[in-house]
Amino acid sequence: MKEIKTIDFEVMYSPSLKQNVENAIEFATMQKQILLNLFGEDIGVIKAAFFDTREAFERHIENISGGRLPPKTAYGCFYCNEIQCLIDENVKKDMTSVLAHEMAHLFFDKFVYQKFGVSRVRWLDESFACRFENPYQKTAKIKVLEMCEYISKKYPNFNMDRLSAGIPNEFNHNDAYSMFRIIAIYIEKNGKERDWISVFDKGQGKVKKLSKTILNDAIHDIKRN
Ligand SMILES: [Zn+2]
Repeated sequence: MKEIKTIDFEVMYSPSLKQNVENAIEFATMQKQILLNLFGEDIGVIKAAFFDTREAFERHIENISGGRLPPKTAYGCFYCNEIQCLIDENVKKDMTSVLAHEMAHLFFDKFVYQKFGVSRVRWLDESFACRFENPYQKTAKIKVLEMCEYISKKYPNFNMDRLSAGIPNEFNHNDAYSMFRIIAIYIEKNGKERDWISVFDKGQGKVKKLSKTILNDAIHDIKRN
């Protein structure tokens, strides 16, 4: 394993991933400025480890966590104060944003869940974390519209509360992430980040309400322009 240290990150990585890791750090450093502006506070140096095989990724997590294993489909995890990322040849999507995504989870956990003393609402922080992949800027318009079309047909009037406690086993994980990304696009496109981090300001009622309409609102907004 090799290591890169910057002011914001300490990253260990399999040597074959040098370029991926440099790109991921550069992108995450840029995204961190947005998070710092939003929250007005820092979470300190972020540790991460990048692996090029699932075996090495799992073995590392098992070692540092005393025997725990990541979900079979996970490519980004957080155990023992460290972000773990897998970039293997099966990953066709661009992994530049994986570090920024996991970093956004850390900020949200500390400055939203811990600050307001509430437990995790999975869809809320996944959508927020996906926003820090810059999906609106990065995804072709036609792809975004196709994704909206597919989700709105398959899940009409979907209540995101079904994904509050986690993604149920029988639920299609790719569809869940499409939903998070649609909401992320809506957040990025309309600058809704501040609404997101103050959502627990007056208790938990706002989240319950939001979960009923947010997916439809996002889809309509994206289709409109
Ligand atoms: Zn995530």
